[in-house]
Amino acid sequence: MVKLFMTNNRFSFSIHGCLFALSLVLMACGGAEQQEQGAVEPQKQYKWKMVTSWPKNFPGLGKAPETFAQYVNKMSAGRLTVKVYGAGELVPGFEVFDAVSQGTVQMGHSGAYYWKGKSAATQLFTTIPFGMNAQETNAWLHYGGGIELWREVYKPFGLIPFAGGNTGVQLAGWFKKEINSIDDIQGLKMRIPGLGGEVFKKLGGIPIALTGGELFTSLQSGAIDATEWVGPYNDLAFGLYKAADYYYYSGWHEPGPTLEFIVNVQAFSALPEDLQAIVEVATRAVNQDMLDEYTARNNEAMVALQEKHKVDMRPLPADVMTALRDASQVVMQEQAAADPMFNKVYQSYSSFQQKVQQYHRISEMEYYLNRAGK
Ligand code: CA
Repeated sequence: MVKLFMTNNRFSFSIHGCLFALSLVLMACGGAEQQEQGAVEPQKQYKWKMVTSWPKNFPGLGKAPETFAQYVNKMSAGRLTVKVYGAGELVPGFEVFDAVSQGTVQMGHSGAYYWKGKSAATQLFTTIPFGMNAQETNAWLHYGGGIELWREVYKPFGLIPFAGGNTGVQLAGWFKKEINSIDDIQGLKMRIPGLGGEVFKKLGGIPIALTGGELFTSLQSGAIDATEWVGPYNDLAFGLYKAADYYYYSGWHEPGPTLEFIVNVQAFSALPEDLQAIVEVATRAVNQDMLDEYTARNNEAMVALQEKHKVDMRPLPADVMTALRDASQVVMQEQAAADPMFNKVYQSYSSFQQKVQQYHRISEMEYYLNRAGK
């Protein structure tokens, strides 16, 4: 029986409330109380492996699993250690889900939308074209029933998902030629995953699935005409500016993409309750930490791209954006009609989005306009 520490939108403070704050854990969790209750086996050590879909130590995406491993090691005083593997070190980036599901390794860090072949609904836990931003998505996941639905979708695969970071609003991507109208999208081969890829296809483009490590050479060789990746911080690191001249915004297709930690349910169940709580709290901490890192680094990288590398950054034309928005509506309705679980999750997501954006219209959005003097 898996009892998660943070469920029903609240923290459980019953036995392990002292684990709530990272800085307090080592000081506050005295052994006496827990040993009396038999929850801790001080001698037992757990050694986990975590496979990821990113190059080892890649900025942002690849830093998150390393940060997780550091948090867990410190909070557990070394009772749980996690060794992180980059894409291709143990398994390829697109085999993370299967490796954790089958128990080959205990844990993975990836993006849920890579697993649409397992269940179409997985895509909704990463991001939705013209959907919620990071702040709103986190609210849905942790206070709007999203994480419970995510766990329902992954349960048949023996996996427990946790939100594992968010990049914030991404950019539309790198194009080898200008996009002046919908005509320029016809037959265009673009690396664009998930529901964004379905929308792109609806407008006549050809979505291609590639992991991050394959992007640069594919774009440079002309195997693809365009690619989205993340945003300035990560795109600069991959050197994508050397392979394409035009960098378009905004990231209509990925407005608040959530990464995922996935844990094998048997491995999680085998942990004592305090280590389970440490795993869960560490995922929550990393989820916020990644957004903080991207928010801090993206602008620095954008300035470098524009000033040092003379990258031409421009908005997608308004009529292209309108067509993408209209096509997104059609794709979401089609997907919801075709798959009951997709529909169930989408109803929850879109209903939450309607409510939160009603408030954000007069708070966040109005403030951005006020701040800009518009
Ligand atoms: Ca992306």
